Amino acid sequence: MRKPFVAGNWKMNLIQSEVVALMRTLAAKAPTDKVQVGVCPPFVYLIPAAVAIGESDVKLAAQDVYFEAKGAFTGEISCAMLHDVCCEYVIVGHSERRHVIGESDELINKKLQAVVNSRLKPILCIGEKLEERDAGRTEKVVESQLAKGLHGLKPADLTDLVIAYEPVWAIGTGRNATPDQAQEVHVFIRKWLAAAFGNPLAQAIRIQYGGSVKASNAKELMAQTEIDGALVGGASLNAEEFLGIISATVQAKGL
Ligand code: PEP
Repeated sequence: MRKPFVAGNWKMNLIQSEVVALMRTLAAKAPTDKVQVGVCPPFVYLIPAAVAIGESDVKLAAQDVYFEAKGAFTGEISCAMLHDVCCEYVIVGHSERRHVIGESDELINKKLQAVVNSRLKPILCIGEKLEERDAGRTEKVVESQLAKGLHGLKPADLTDLVIAYEPVWAIGTGRNATPDQAQEVHVFIRKWLAAAFGNPLAQAIRIQYGGSVKASNAKELMAQTEIDGALVGGASLNAEEFLGIISATVQAKGL
């Protein structure tokens, strides 16, 4: 059985004292024996967050990474640097990187290659925009992001891969995909993974849903068989709300 993974993407929010307080609460209260829990603080707070995690099993993740190993790349952060500050996971291809910053599938693929080569664990975000869903192109978009993002990677590279299906129209909008809409795309993603990399690997890869997940809607979403957790933005900034999503996951999965 796939262990559900609920990760909080704090984006460009919080200051150090808030990072430390939130992390300490999660470290003390998150039931990490049942649900894998991760947080993605801003780069500059990775070290205080790692210290605040202490002995708990909350996983530290970065929000992005650059593919080059070192050199004249002002403002960028390498995989080795993330390892050095105790990061285990890293988000690649978040929709805000794709659509606000302008990252291409080709750049995302280079980042993924660097991440798997360095043995960091990638969370690859994919998802369609509203106009693409309305035009009936959701599967085409998701398929293209998977094919281009994972291009050149072999099954052995993907044992730690996590996919986050995040419809762009649901991110930060308060409008989540219905459980059926999300399940349908998750089924499609797993079938695509099975065709590309074989069924055993496809069955092992966790597929998170992301897009306006809250404590109040998490149970229905997490009850879907192909949804293996959540990537949470806004609601992960509040300990009570984020812990509510985690306990809804425990309940929905009968853990
Ligand atoms: C996200 O940014 O990955 C996300 C899902 O945001 P929100 O939960 O705020 O919609």
